[in-house]
Amino acid sequence: MSDHNCIFCKIIAGQIPCLKIYENDRILAFLDIGPVSEGHTLVVPKKHTTCVDQTDPEIMSEIGKVLPALAASIREAMGADGYNVLCNNGASAGQVVEHMHVHIIPRKVNDGVFNQWPSFQYPDGKAAAIAEKIQQNLTL
Ligand code: AMP
Ligand code: ZN
Repeated sequence: MSDHNCIFCKIIAGQIPCLKIYENDRILAFLDIGPVSEGHTLVVPKKHTTCVDQTDPEIMSEIGKVLPALAASIREAMGADGYNVLCNNGASAGQVVEHMHVHIIPRKVNDGVFNQWPSFQYPDGKAAAIAEKIQQNLTL
């Protein structure tokens, strides 16, 4: 199933070009057109879906199956020291293209990409309350 207004669905359908890295019948990986580092790659399910929580667990596991080999080839090809695997879900989290996608971003020491991780400390008791609330909503 595809969304006619979705740029990634158009790439999957071959209506818009991409630099393909890997493809199987469910998954496509291609170079990001606006990379934050050289080799920045996107991994997308061929079936249109918006966010991780809207995606069939089987499709998520298909993505998980290809990630290790893709990450290894990207790391090796780019001579990267490491890489980020990340997925923005929802506009508030920075998602611009509303077709679920996983970024693989090769990193080098002191490359200046994402050099801040804004962490904080919970006040007493709050972490336990949050963990409980999340567990109560879990459908697994
Ligand atoms: P996000 O902010 O997580 O939604 O990321 C969307 C990503 O899609 C950005 O990194 C864009 O550079 C990338 N992108 C948008 N259009 C294209 C395209 N036609 N081909 C490849 N990457 C694209
Ligand atoms: Zn789509």
